[in-house]
Amino acid sequence: MTHPPVPTQSNPVASPTGDPWLLTPGPLTTSPTVKQAMLHDYGSRDRTFIEINAKVRQRLVAIVDGQDSHVCVPLQGSGTFVVEAMVGTFVPPDGKLLILVNGAYGHRIAKICKYIGRHHIIQETAEDTPVNVQQLDKRLGEDTDISHVAVIHCETTSGILNPLAEVADVVARHGRSLLIDAMSAFGAIPLSTHEIKFDAVVASSNKCLEGSPGMGFCIANRTALKATQGNSPSLCLDLYDQWVSMESNGQWRFTPPTHAILAFNQALDEFEQEGGVEGRGRRYLENCRILIEGMRRMGFRTLLPDELQAPIIVTFHMPEDPKFDFNRFYDRLSSQGYVIYPGKLTVAESFRIGCIGRLGAQEIRGALAAIESTMTSLE
Ligand SMILES: *Cc1c(COP(=O)(O)O)cnc(C)c1O
Repeated sequence: MTHPPVPTQSNPVASPTGDPWLLTPGPLTTSPTVKQAMLHDYGSRDRTFIEINAKVRQRLVAIVDGQDSHVCVPLQGSGTFVVEAMVGTFVPPDGKLLILVNGAYGHRIAKICKYIGRHHIIQETAEDTPVNVQQLDKRLGEDTDISHVAVIHCETTSGILNPLAEVADVVARHGRSLLIDAMSAFGAIPLSTHEIKFDAVVASSNKCLEGSPGMGFCIANRTALKATQGNSPSLCLDLYDQWVSMESNGQWRFTPPTHAILAFNQALDEFEQEGGVEGRGRRYLENCRILIEGMRRMGFRTLLPDELQAPIIVTFHMPEDPKFDFNRFYDRLSSQGYVIYPGKLTVAESFRIGCIGRLGAQEIRGALAAIESTMTSLE
């Protein structure tokens, strides 16, 4: 039933389906079985589909131990759609959001607030510096208008891990609500409702959970979500309406991404087989370790010290050698089957290599070998 890989001159066989390995922040490499799960057409009212959808939602809540307190609201679109949905649904028109920013995804939340007209302020640290918990504490003490705080768990701009538990403690102590963008961390870095108090966390199908792209989801505290009726400035992005509607008949309000849900269900099977967050996190950590060790051996420097590095994506400084041209480097690597990613930093010239998706030690070593031969041939 599957098509054989179709290698081409510019795209030699790398993954089992003949695709390049994606060492990027997304879209990411998926397993052949995840891709295969999509070879079915389901109607939106099909009983099997409705059951699978319900099961996916339950499993996502269980990943953060939220069965007793939280619900899962899935949403069509890329990750940013559900970030915007979370902000618009949870922050009421008379609320005020404090956004902890140390990269592009924090700035994106501020941009969303401008579009949808939500009061917001940002508290910014440099891209290579974690968000500042003492400053947050002080700000929340001074400004009683702040109703919500938003934080990025792993800032994919640099790959830095933010101190989520400390942020959540301070926010809870001040009696405010926490909104988390855990897009690039969910499923690989532990996050439990038993330890971290939050109103909503958002992530997507295609990052550490290794499903296909096409949908995001919000894990929301049930009580907090119940209080959001009428907040959203958008129909499509109203998580309250999406939730109430899905609870009533098990169906999506608008055409569901059926294939993405089938793939996601399979991806969650594989996630569980790998040992859940612990197993997945371990593989990514090993990918990250091999990558950094190999790159340092070739003389590359990481932006972040090891203690701030999340095992998700690694930012490397651009080599100073004038013979090094990133576009040429990128093209040579992708012609060998490895796709890396340009940097997104404002502070330094850089590029990024991801550790997530259906990749293991062998693929990272393959990428390192391709980088080594490319560097040698630059001379
Ligand atoms: C990937 C990502 C997003 C969403 O990006 P999309 O391109 O819309 O899927 C949001 N926040 C973070 C931290 C991310 O890594």
